Amino acid sequence: MLVHVKDIQPADVKIGLRQTRLGFQIRIRWIVFASLILASVMPLIGLYKWMEVSALQKEIAYADENHLTIAKNLSATMDRYANDVASIFELSIRSLEGSYGLELREALDSFDLSFVTVMDENDYVLNEVRATSTTTSPRPPPELMAGLRSQAAADPDKTIFSGILQFDGAPHVFLVRNLSDGKLAFAALKLQYLIALQNTIKFGELGHAMIVDQNGIVIAHPNPEWQATSKDASKLSVVQQMMAGETGVATFYSPPMQADMISGFTFVARTGWGVMVPQPMRELIARAKESEHIAAIIVIVEIAFIILMSWWLANLIATPIMNVAKTAKEVSAGNLDARVAMGSASIKIYEADLLGQNFNWVLSDLQSEQNRLNVALNAAHEGERVKSQFLSVMSHEIRTPMHGLMGILELVENGTLEDGQRNLITIGQKAANNMVCLLDNVLQFVRLEFNAQSGKVSKFKPSELAQGAVDLFQPLAMQKGLSLTTSVSDQLLLGDPQIISQILLNLVGNAVKFTEEGQVHIASELRDGSNGKENRLVLSVTDSGIGIDKDLQPKIFDEFIQVDSELSRTNEGTGLGLAISSRLAQLMKGEITLTSEPYKGSCFQLNIPVTVAEV
Ligand code: ADP
Repeated sequence: MLVHVKDIQPADVKIGLRQTRLGFQIRIRWIVFASLILASVMPLIGLYKWMEVSALQKEIAYADENHLTIAKNLSATMDRYANDVASIFELSIRSLEGSYGLELREALDSFDLSFVTVMDENDYVLNEVRATSTTTSPRPPPELMAGLRSQAAADPDKTIFSGILQFDGAPHVFLVRNLSDGKLAFAALKLQYLIALQNTIKFGELGHAMIVDQNGIVIAHPNPEWQATSKDASKLSVVQQMMAGETGVATFYSPPMQADMISGFTFVARTGWGVMVPQPMRELIARAKESEHIAAIIVIVEIAFIILMSWWLANLIATPIMNVAKTAKEVSAGNLDARVAMGSASIKIYEADLLGQNFNWVLSDLQSEQNRLNVALNAAHEGERVKSQFLSVMSHEIRTPMHGLMGILELVENGTLEDGQRNLITIGQKAANNMVCLLDNVLQFVRLEFNAQSGKVSKFKPSELAQGAVDLFQPLAMQKGLSLTTSVSDQLLLGDPQIISQILLNLVGNAVKFTEEGQVHIASELRDGSNGKENRLVLSVTDSGIGIDKDLQPKIFDEFIQVDSELSRTNEGTGLGLAISSRLAQLMKGEITLTSEPYKGSCFQLNIPVTVAEV
């Protein structure tokens, strides 16, 4: 038997998920696809989120290291420069004091020193050496001199670097040193080298360096105005940290740049100057964003690739399974020639491919088995046909001489006979009648088997058909002392009264035959076929007879079946009546059903479709 593949209809599961009696059905294509996407896209998105956060952190860490290194390098260079300048200054003093006559003018030039002067305690110039580029040397005003003297007095045996001082129309740093006898040596240092040094530091868009003196006054800065006017930057927290001799990295808000800045900072050991290397934070953020964008593009491309791969893989797995399901459906619909399409793709799933192949082999086996069965079935049908033809011919051939025999018996009966002879003739007539009856039944059964045709439809009243049966069987019923009653509708219906009548006669005949006491009742029910259903007539014949054993009930409608009981043995019959009746009912698209209990009685119900006739 072929299994009907009705539970899983591929075409029904359109969106991948549908509810059935047993729960949810999900397409394998979607399961594989969703699992692959979840397994690969989720970590990618997580990775991207991590990169998003860490990109800025990395930029900041890099800036921390980088900016501080630049500041430290710058500070080391300036320290060496300050020491060199101090050495030249001290050498110049020794030359002036000891009249060594060293030619230091060019050396002063190369270290940006304008002049070196030695004054007595009354600010009277005792000695002086000028750089080659210095033609005139304006005298520092008295208040500047006073300031220098007080700075020199603070540490008498050391060359002191002053803070930034405006002199001769430009900012200068002065080197001062106390000499013996109240003398004071001082030199004016121009800031070109420091400015040039600061100028070399440029990175990013606005990354730069700033040099301040020990009081937080700008020595060198990209803004020329700040340099020229000796801008006071001591209010900046980071400048204060440098003035306190600290080294590190700080973030702060810069009002002139209107930006949050990050800066490495340190100080120059020899002079106490501060060196800082700031850069706007937004540049770091922009660079981090750039990395993020690149990461986002990579992630998007990768996700697209994963989606395509997942869909391809999901189809690779699902398609062969669907092909098997489709083929199973076709086979279930009766097409045994259907085969699973194996496809010609170069990459296939081994197991799915094997499933399709094996399914096709099973189908091939099934088809050859089916062919063998068809041959056997045809042979059986042919045998059946030959048997029926033989029965039909034989019945017909026997019927003709039987009628002759019956005519002769009738002629003999009409003559003068002795009582014993008449009895024998009557028995003979009865036997001949039964024989003709049997032959008629066999003939009708054979005809029904092979030339099944529905009878003609005409108007009838069920009550009239029931009355016909009563009229026929009343004498026998009375003879057995049975009551034969009807309660049948006299509604005018459309159907095949001839066939219905034949079935009814058979059922009532059996009921009377197999009932020894009690009653036989014929009833009807007309079931309304509202809601698009057809009307049905149910005719039931109920008796209080011997009943039929439960085991035999299913077989009772098979041909030549007779219940082997004492009563049935005493009754004549062919075992064809119910088989014929049942086939006649099927011809009318109806059926006969039986409920029976041994020794209590039976109820046969004929249930057929009818139409209510218009009067
Ligand atoms: P038959 O010509 O022998 O009556 P049927 O096909 O009409 O053939 O009935 C088959 C058998 O079913 C009968 O021989 C009898 O044993 C059983 N049968 C039929 N109708 C009844 C009934 N109303 N009560 C008891 N047994 C019945």
